[in-house]
Amino acid sequence: MFRVLLYALISIFAITFIRMVVGILTKGFADLLREETGSGRPGQSRPSQQVPTSGELKPCRQCGTYVVAGAAIQASVKGETVYFCSEECRKKAGV
Ligand SMILES: [Zn+2]
Repeated sequence: MFRVLLYALISIFAITFIRMVVGILTKGFADLLREETGSGRPGQSRPSQQVPTSGELKPCRQCGTYVVAGAAIQASVKGETVYFCSEECRKKAGV
């Protein structure tokens, strides 16, 4: 009777231990895989400057088109920040 209990306890410990080892191993493999795929991320091919879709709207000083301040071309005129919708408008304005 005691022997059966002992075997049951041993098997429970063994299962727990095996699960722990397997868990550590699979976690380690997952980390390795993540690191391998992370080094060659396709994010590098993406444009470095992402155009924000939200933010303060500023009118283009040249043509009046409203542009998001973060995506607008900014120039400083007499200490004042002015915004342009494009490089073309900035050139036209002579800034
Ligand atoms: Zn413009």
